[in-house]
Amino acid sequence: MKLHEYQSKDLLARHGVPVPRGEVTRDPAEAKVIAEKFGGKVVVKAQVLMGGRGKAGGVKLFDDAQAAADFTKEIIGKRLVSIQNPAGMVVDKVLVAEQIDIAEEYYLSILMDRAAAKLVVMISKEGGMDIEEVAATNPGAIVKVHVDPAWGLSDYELREAVAKANIPAPARSQMISMIKKLVKVYLDADADMIEINPCALTPEGKLLAADAKVSIDENALYRQLEYQETADDSAEDPIEAEAARRGIAYVKLDGDVGIIGNGAGLVMCSMDEVKAAGGQPADFLDVGGGAQAERVKSCVELVMMDPNVKGILINIFGGITRCDEVANGILQAFDELNIDIPVVARIEGTAAEEGRAILSGSKIMPAQSMQEAATKIVAATR
Ligand code: GDP
Ligand code: MN
Repeated sequence: MKLHEYQSKDLLARHGVPVPRGEVTRDPAEAKVIAEKFGGKVVVKAQVLMGGRGKAGGVKLFDDAQAAADFTKEIIGKRLVSIQNPAGMVVDKVLVAEQIDIAEEYYLSILMDRAAAKLVVMISKEGGMDIEEVAATNPGAIVKVHVDPAWGLSDYELREAVAKANIPAPARSQMISMIKKLVKVYLDADADMIEINPCALTPEGKLLAADAKVSIDENALYRQLEYQETADDSAEDPIEAEAARRGIAYVKLDGDVGIIGNGAGLVMCSMDEVKAAGGQPADFLDVGGGAQAERVKSCVELVMMDPNVKGILINIFGGITRCDEVANGILQAFDELNIDIPVVARIEGTAAEEGRAILSGSKIMPAQSMQEAATKIVAATR
């Protein structure tokens, strides 16, 4: 789960990593006040979870606070498109940070090297630009050091690495100290990626994280409490965000046939059948095992939040899940949500007879097989 730059810098600063001062806002008037605090000499940076913001026009330097406020006004609500993210992302907030003078731009990152079961620190003198480009054209310019999480890093290894990367001598000890702090952040915050690009050297010889991208391992969110809310907000799609809050496995797709099933395999088969019948799935939704009526209702409600949905296919194979529970959930959803689009249900397995009996006489169309269900729902949504 990617953190915004301002969140990443806040986390780093709390661990003693030097970062330029700055504040986040979505209000141009407030941007002006923040810029004035820094004497008007600021950089305004769009807070979108994508790379290449600079080239996309999302990072601009200013000499006066009013100009910074004007740019804030212009960019909030705008969609930024970059090579890394052709679909683009809408800017909701900006970081107004003190502008630093930059003499040189370096690159630092930490990742997990799964094959080695160690962290890997990457250091390069060629920062600022796209590191993928450096990796492709001048791979020797990226120096890698492995870190055993149990043993940590020795100063000696780091001294050797920064020298090998040709980091100028006056910046080396600051970089070594920064790397040690980054490793600590990586472990303490359950990060799965930290990237500082540029790691900027000022003409006065001070090293700062001028940009920071931290990603937190989603499997660790149960103990990274401060980022649990971010997990909800960082989902790009509002329905996916709501699904995350409800603990439902849901992926939004572009079609118009809502899909609900239990078990990821069955849901994917249902999607394939809908496509084979000439339709397009609107989502992937896995109800999960042992679903109760209330949960099924919640799933139907979620699928109905997508305004493109013209019909719903429900495909349940009851094992632990009882089909009568599922049927009750579908009926509840129908009653309480006033559903007026076609719904086809194929239910099979544990308590299937009871389930079908519950649905008979309702508006829900029964189907014997997955294929029949797909054909029926595609025909009904035409
Ligand atoms: P990215 O394009 O999304 O990676 O955004 P960055 O935060 O890395 O900014 C892009 C570029 O803007 C950097 O490589 C710097 O060259 C420049 N930049 C960002 N902040 C400052 C600053 O405070 N002072 C100066 N002089 N340049 C900056
Ligand atoms: Mn950057």
